[in-house]
Amino acid sequence: MDALWRAPTLRPKIPRSPMPTSQDEFYRGLERAGAALSRARGGPAERAAAVHDAIADLLRDTDAHERLACRSGCAHCCHFPVGVTFAEAVRIADAIRGDDALRERVLADADATGDAAWHQLVGRACPLLRDGACQRYPQRPMPCRALGSLDEAACSASLTANADVPRDEAAWWRGLGAAQALDEGHGRRELRSAVAALLRAARGEQAAAFARSRAVPQP
Ligand code: SF4
Repeated sequence: MDALWRAPTLRPKIPRSPMPTSQDEFYRGLERAGAALSRARGGPAERAAAVHDAIADLLRDTDAHERLACRSGCAHCCHFPVGVTFAEAVRIADAIRGDDALRERVLADADATGDAAWHQLVGRACPLLRDGACQRYPQRPMPCRALGSLDEAACSASLTANADVPRDEAAWWRGLGAAQALDEGHGRRELRSAVAALLRAARGEQAAAFARSRAVPQP
């Protein structure tokens, strides 16, 4: 999922006309998330929740939404490494801190994959996935929200071969914009590595722990 989960190298500017669709959608997500952040109160977890809530209807309001292949119990995309913002990682860590079994599962998976390169995580299940379902679906990060596949067979094939997955492009780019707003200068890190680092860090050291976790590869 995350080979493509990078902010495009776009800078705010007065767009030429016509604006490329991807850029238009990117800024729609960025602006919606930015407005939510300007109203948000609380810490990183609350800021992530504010953006996730604010972007939800924008991800559903697309021409392709009715054709989504995504359904409950389908979890091909949960076998790709996922990039998360600091705020999203804090939100997930807070949500599993009191669940001993899930907490240990994330920590063990992070330890077992500590030396793995990003591409070596392709095919390995996200530690939040159990019995085909995300155990923290309400707190899932933006890539998991915005990846709307239009072809389940292509998702399955993409785990073992280079396969293009047709997706809801508008939702994808809106999600990218929202993630860019939520980044807030921390960058993005791989989910299991980042969440494990936060679970082990003292409150005041979370940002530093996040920064030391596995970085999302850059082009
Ligand atoms: S956070 Fe949830 S939805 Fe996202 S990859 Fe992990 S199990 Fe799947």
